[in-house]
Amino acid sequence: MSEHVRLHIPGPVEISPATYEAMATPMIGHRSKDFVALYDDIHPGLQELLGTQQPVFLSTSSAWGIMEGSIRNLVKKKVLCCCSGAFSDKWIDVARRCGKEGEALQYEWGTPVDPADIDAKLATGEFDTVTFIHNETSTGVMNPLAEVAAVVRKYDDVCLVVDTVSSFTVVPIEFDKLGIDVLLTGSQKALALPPGLAVFTVSDRAFDRASTIDDRGYYFDFLEFKKNQAKSMTPSTPCIATIYGLRHQVKQIFAEGIEARFARHEKLNNIVHEWIRENGFEFFAPEGFRSKSLTCIANNKGIDVAKLQQIMREEHKIQLDGGYGKIKGTSFRLSNMGDETEETIGNLLNCLDAALPKV
Ligand SMILES: *Cc1c(COP(=O)(O)O)cnc(C)c1O
Repeated sequence: MSEHVRLHIPGPVEISPATYEAMATPMIGHRSKDFVALYDDIHPGLQELLGTQQPVFLSTSSAWGIMEGSIRNLVKKKVLCCCSGAFSDKWIDVARRCGKEGEALQYEWGTPVDPADIDAKLATGEFDTVTFIHNETSTGVMNPLAEVAAVVRKYDDVCLVVDTVSSFTVVPIEFDKLGIDVLLTGSQKALALPPGLAVFTVSDRAFDRASTIDDRGYYFDFLEFKKNQAKSMTPSTPCIATIYGLRHQVKQIFAEGIEARFARHEKLNNIVHEWIRENGFEFFAPEGFRSKSLTCIANNKGIDVAKLQQIMREEHKIQLDGGYGKIKGTSFRLSNMGDETEETIGNLLNCLDAALPKV
């Protein structure tokens, strides 16, 4: 393990040996009492972390499964997709591929979503669903979730779908209080698990909507998840090893304390921010809207990012991100999500200090 290349990219993130060990628990049948006990063991903790009394579901898919599933379960009229980065931009494309009518509320990458714009769009009465990415991992922007939720809740018949893939358990998220309709996250980012598992919850409004839609399919049918969860099971055979990992991580989160976990992310994020300022770099995201789980650095100094990645990998055994999609090379990102500590982030920054003069 000590010889591997350590991940400092914003997903998949580094996984602890203890998590791998938990995942190596002997296999069980997914219709057995053992699986029921496993699901029952983590369900209350997941509800607490999501801030909900609703059932919490485990989908053996990456986050995109539930992002697409939300479209298929909820959109009857038209979906408004808040687009401001690689992941949010793709959601409108996914909606159209599902045969749904959609409109992009498009922002420049790096610009936060403005709740007033959503309000103006919803006032037309054309839309029944909004897709929103809380933490746009490609740009390092954290969008104003509470404000957006407050606006959508003015419209009783509009469902709000929120992606928290890179912000879940990084900052508080209150599903019930904010009146969100679908909240989803994936395993390989903020939760520091291997890829392949999505965790999500659904409001009664969204279940009601889904029950009026005929072509929900099977694999991502919210009502199928609900029916099975009532028996502490999943619709089909889940990735049980990753769920063992999830049980371990949920226990770790409560052992650390959720407030302490938020504070750790904030502190590590501040250490990264300090380093950025000291080194004369600029932030891609505006002040007040910066992610707490990763930082997108604007390459204002025009360094050779690919070379930096190469040196970090070859000389320091660290996998560094080189920027996502159309901002590859003109930006790069440092992740502090998951199980990172002052020591591991300190080491990352020390290695960058050693590598930077060479690029
Ligand atoms: C990584 C990411 C996704 C996509 O996750 P997959 O696991 O590839 O499906 C979606 N949304 C956000 C915000 C992400 O960071």
